[in-house]
Amino acid sequence: MSRIIVFCGPPGAGKGTQAQKVSEEYGLKHLSTGEMLRAEIASGSELGQQVDALLKQGNLVPDEMVLEMIRGCVTQAECSVCGERKVCERGVVLDGFPRTLEQAKALDEMLARNDSKIEHVISLEVAEDVLIERIEQRIRESGDAIRSDDSEEVLKNRVRVYQEQTAPILPYYEEQGLLRRIDGMQPIDDVTKAIGTVLGKVKVA
Ligand code: AMP
Repeated sequence: MSRIIVFCGPPGAGKGTQAQKVSEEYGLKHLSTGEMLRAEIASGSELGQQVDALLKQGNLVPDEMVLEMIRGCVTQAECSVCGERKVCERGVVLDGFPRTLEQAKALDEMLARNDSKIEHVISLEVAEDVLIERIEQRIRESGDAIRSDDSEEVLKNRVRVYQEQTAPILPYYEEQGLLRRIDGMQPIDDVTKAIGTVLGKVKVA
């Protein structure tokens, strides 16, 4: 696998948008654990119902569950997630994973077993008051398409969960020299440009 790019940032930082752009521009597979979990919920499975309850509260799902979901893709084993093995081989953009130190360490081990490693960890940084305003705006604008984990109470819990459980992965990656902090409060196109500067100009056709 050529490139493994990790996106992290608090809810509302725009990581989904930016991860999607990077995956299109560089020809990498976009893997969003949040989307995979929402697909599980939509399938109506029993597991989906348990996942739904956690997402509705803004809490994380257990580490082992997400590790199982992405294991196939990042190890180039038979991919049970998307079936697009060719795209995965070029590399992946991990959006919303890892979200705990345990997940980060497990990912490193998985990659090391395959002689692979993370190339960059892009951290989109946004001040907390700006985050809350962004999500409130998303709620106002989205009408009946509001995500069940977008209510203000849940959002505040998600920000807290981010600070307590996810933010500790930043120093972990900083120590490894992988962390690239990007100001996520800039206009979207400027954030995209800043990410492009980190990733370089070589794009996969
Ligand atoms: P996202 O779409 O990335 O904002 O994720 C939506 C929700 O899915 C999160 O608030 C968590 O409840 C859950 N989730 C997504 N990724 C993970 C992960 N790596 N570990 C645990 N829970 C996750």
